Amino acid sequence: PGAVLDIRKLVVEFPTRRGVLTAIRGIDLTIGRGEILGVVGESGAGKSLTGAAVIGLLESSGRVAEGEIHVCGRRIDNLPRREMQKLRGRTIGAIFQDPLTSLNPLLTVGDQLTETMRVHLPLSRAEAADRAIKLLQEVGIPSPELRITQYPHQFSGGMRQRVVIALALCAEPELVIADEPTTALDVSIQAQITALLKRVCRDRGTAMMLITHDMGVIAETADRVAVMYAGRIVEIGPVASIIRAPRHPYTKGLIGSIPSLTDRRERLVQIDGAMPRLNAMPSGCAFHPRCRYANEQCRSDRPPLLPAGTSEAACWHLDREEVSHVA
Ligand code: SF4
Ligand code: MG
Repeated sequence: PGAVLDIRKLVVEFPTRRGVLTAIRGIDLTIGRGEILGVVGESGAGKSLTGAAVIGLLESSGRVAEGEIHVCGRRIDNLPRREMQKLRGRTIGAIFQDPLTSLNPLLTVGDQLTETMRVHLPLSRAEAADRAIKLLQEVGIPSPELRITQYPHQFSGGMRQRVVIALALCAEPELVIADEPTTALDVSIQAQITALLKRVCRDRGTAMMLITHDMGVIAETADRVAVMYAGRIVEIGPVASIIRAPRHPYTKGLIGSIPSLTDRRERLVQIDGAMPRLNAMPSGCAFHPRCRYANEQCRSDRPPLLPAGTSEAACWHLDREEVSHVA
């Protein structure tokens, strides 16, 4: 069976007055039906840009300069704007960090759902209203018959994000891009929302790209994870094995920051330094200025993704004892 999402050698560039900045520097990934692929990394790694490229919403001057994006076997990176608009919502749903950016404050929740459905699906008003109620029920909103008559401000933050999830799903997309869907929520609500995302993907067979800076969210939700650094994937594979035995030094640092998975007192395995700027990309392995294992080879040659157990990782020293084991 073909992948729902297939990204091949994607390069995203931003032309500026001082030259072209390359923000995504050649990534390959696939997501299968019903699968949740986590995309994780620090701010500036290129996670959100990857998602934006897929939904055709690259900001300002950004452009897909090389590579291809296929959804359900159809190439979409070169579609005219109108075609892409039709795909958004219908084939690809989106969930963003702040529910208020996705919801119109002037429309009732019922109207937003039914209008979106009727743009994409041949439904009568009554059929759409009926579906809206069922959908609110599915995403765990009590008293849906009452709730569809209410406005977004009448919902709590967590309930509002459930509405956004319902909106992303209402035209039954094959793929959902969720960019930091729990980051704006209270910690107590986050686990409920990640559980909901997981359940709807399983029940509906929807593929999801779950973008987050939080390895804990990945651990709870995703099937596979792609770790991004400086516009590239540095490690990709099944979540369980990457959490248990991360291979890339950067992944090790990210996992060290999950409180529940390591000793509380020593949990902050800090990754010193910062993500490189796009106009000052280090030579060789882009992580080398921050890596305590870096040597001459790391500074001069870029490591490709290579098989590492059940995963793949881009590091010259995967076989080193101290690199390949959890500290
Ligand atoms: Fe560190 Fe070298 Fe591996 Fe890069 S290639 S992560 S610098 S050991
Ligand atoms: Mg982001």
